[in-house]
Amino acid sequence: MQLVIDNLSKTYANGVQALKNVSLTINQGMFGLLGPNGAGKSSLMRTIATLQEASSGSITLGNLDVLREKHEVRKVLGYLPQEFGVYPRVTAETMLDHIADLKGIVDKKQRKEIVHTLLEKVNLIHVRNKNLGTFSGGMKQRFGVAQALIGNPKLIIVDEPTAGLDPAERNRFYNLLSEIGENTIVILSTHIVEDVTNLCSNMAIICLGEVIAQGHPADLVESL
Ligand code: ADP
Ligand code: ADP
Repeated sequence: MQLVIDNLSKTYANGVQALKNVSLTINQGMFGLLGPNGAGKSSLMRTIATLQEASSGSITLGNLDVLREKHEVRKVLGYLPQEFGVYPRVTAETMLDHIADLKGIVDKKQRKEIVHTLLEKVNLIHVRNKNLGTFSGGMKQRFGVAQALIGNPKLIIVDEPTAGLDPAERNRFYNLLSEIGENTIVILSTHIVEDVTNLCSNMAIICLGEVIAQGHPADLVESL
């Protein structure tokens, strides 16, 4: 499975050209999209996640036309947005169960098993009955990963995940993501160079809506 972005451009209603002829081929594993604030990372992530329209260009995931077959894409997509809100008075377990239900996992017993496995994976099983409002930033972020993993997605998009995490939480989050990246396409958008050098096997640098370099982090980052 490959994600192929071809000549993608996005101009917003206010005239801002957020993406300019972006072309990228992304394989399984951890892919880093590095760029400063305002570079166009979120615009690209939201477009891949079928949450906004492109102005021109194409995106394919395997044999899916991402910009047209949105419904199909959403079935195989996990998205962890930058600003990740939680319902404060719902427990972690109840929320994941509800999302699994929404994603079409109708069997109650099966849902319970899936939710437990995910809570164990992200190291939140001990707080499964706590309200999400009591979670720290790192816990919320890991909860977001569990939520994004429901339904075994083939493509996971993580937008600026480590902003606001302390070093210990950041490391825990890195470990979790690298585990997931073994058999999925994971795109990590970030302005933090270490996120990419610690985690990603391939990367691109985006600046003012343009991809200015792509390759292996070891080759690219020393030139920054
Ligand atoms: P579109 O052109 O894709 O329809 P809109 O201009 O309608 O997008 O804005 C969509 C959302 O993005 C709105 O919630 C708006 O507040 C927010 N937004 C608008 N301008 C900016 C900006 N310059 N940077 C970030 N977000 C913005
Ligand atoms: P990044 O995620 O790298 O910070 P964004 O994709 O959020 O970059 O923003 C790229 C450019 O597009 C910025 O100039 C931003 O202000 C603008 N922008 C982002 N979202 C919107 C929107 N909905 N409407 C208008 N302009 C936007």
